[in-house]
Amino acid sequence: MLERLQAGNARYAANQPNEKDFSAGRAARATAQSPVAAILSCADSRVVPDLVFDQEPGDLFVCRVAGNIVTPDLLASIEYGVEFLGAVLIVVLGHSSCGAVDAAIEVMKNDAKLPGHLPELIRAIKPAVVIAEKTSGVLLDNAIVENVKRQVAALKRATPVIARDYAAKKIDIVGGVYDIATGKVTMV
Ligand SMILES: [Zn+2]
Repeated sequence: MLERLQAGNARYAANQPNEKDFSAGRAARATAQSPVAAILSCADSRVVPDLVFDQEPGDLFVCRVAGNIVTPDLLASIEYGVEFLGAVLIVVLGHSSCGAVDAAIEVMKNDAKLPGHLPELIRAIKPAVVIAEKTSGVLLDNAIVENVKRQVAALKRATPVIARDYAAKKIDIVGGVYDIATGKVTMV
């Protein structure tokens, strides 16, 4: 299934997406859905998983939250996509220039204060920044990759539904980073 998404991303990056006929399949979609993959993506407006992977309506069960972190609500949504809709692949999709990860860095390095509920979200991203600080290169880029890897690991451990299906090899769980500038997804 990953190959299908990667092929779609290659089409998207090359600006050669498949021709879409949105009325075709509408009647079938009105009665049921059977997405092939669940995507845990950042909410960033520049990251549009259905376009990024050049898939049709009904193909992707997309769950979005700033920083593409696994929270109870997001996990429940993914469980629904896997258990009831039959998605066999979960993709955690981070992206370049992620404002949520950047905000976590600002909080940790410059003691930035964020309003509202943002500190809760940042808390979930901080461990990725701590790991990224120990590696060479651009901190933001490294933290984005580490955050994706941590969320993939969290999903693999997510009992009872996802961890069980992953252990039974019924589903696969992978991570990728979308490059806003090129349109390409690199698996991490
Ligand atoms: Zn983001």
